[in-house]
Amino acid sequence: MRLVRARHGERVVLARVEGEAGVVVAVERPDPGADVLRDAVLAATDLRGDGEPVVLSELEPLAPVAWPSKIVCVGLNYPLHAQEADEKPPARPLLFCKTPNALCGPDDVVSWPGAASAQVDYEAELVAIVGRPTQGVSPAEAPAAIFGFTCGNDISARDAQFGDGQWYRGKSFDGFAPIGPAVVTSDELDASDLRVRCRMNGRTMQDASTAEMLFDLPTIVSYVSQAITLLPGDVLYTGTPDGVGVTRQPPVLLGDGDAVEVEIEGIGTLRNTMSVRV
Ligand code: MG
Repeated sequence: MRLVRARHGERVVLARVEGEAGVVVAVERPDPGADVLRDAVLAATDLRGDGEPVVLSELEPLAPVAWPSKIVCVGLNYPLHAQEADEKPPARPLLFCKTPNALCGPDDVVSWPGAASAQVDYEAELVAIVGRPTQGVSPAEAPAAIFGFTCGNDISARDAQFGDGQWYRGKSFDGFAPIGPAVVTSDELDASDLRVRCRMNGRTMQDASTAEMLFDLPTIVSYVSQAITLLPGDVLYTGTPDGVGVTRQPPVLLGDGDAVEVEIEGIGTLRNTMSVRV
């Protein structure tokens, strides 16, 4: 099942996509903090049920999740990326956070003040959306915790990330967590060997498979859940392959007007344009 959270006229809806058509399966409450995907999962809404038909071209896709309780990320999870970063592959998953203010959706413009960072970089990543409260699960139990998958870009201000001594600010600028365009449910997509690509202005910068992950998704979910209870709607960035911009010679950094695409096999393509504010 392919789901999009989207603006449809005055409403925000969750629609099930079937070819060029869609069916509205839930409507977002017009309240602060409302999140139609999270709330539909919590309410056990029948996402396969009948609903109002909509034409896909009338939907304006949004970030699939608006208000996760947390965005958990894994760093250095592809051996060739660790190598290009001149780091040893971690002995256990290297976890960090992005904050919900960073979320944005397909086609959104990602804008930051040039004075706050001059080293903004892309990171194409498979993103998992959590579907149930999950605490202390084994790797064998972990797949049941995953609702579905989407594309993500772990945009990173490298000067802030490395200059601050930790990654909190550099990873969480407003708009630095684009996700979308759709969520494909985990019963229909095996995420263990999916091609992940990143293009910058049409040029391929990253091209790898999720099979190259150092720690696979069940291992990550199990590891996180030993310490942190995962909740429906939580967002999990699973790490980026090699080919990031900052370690290239010379470095390739994002600037005003650059277009970045993250394409993941079986999910789709997430596009965002960069804008630097003076
Ligand atoms: Mg990353």
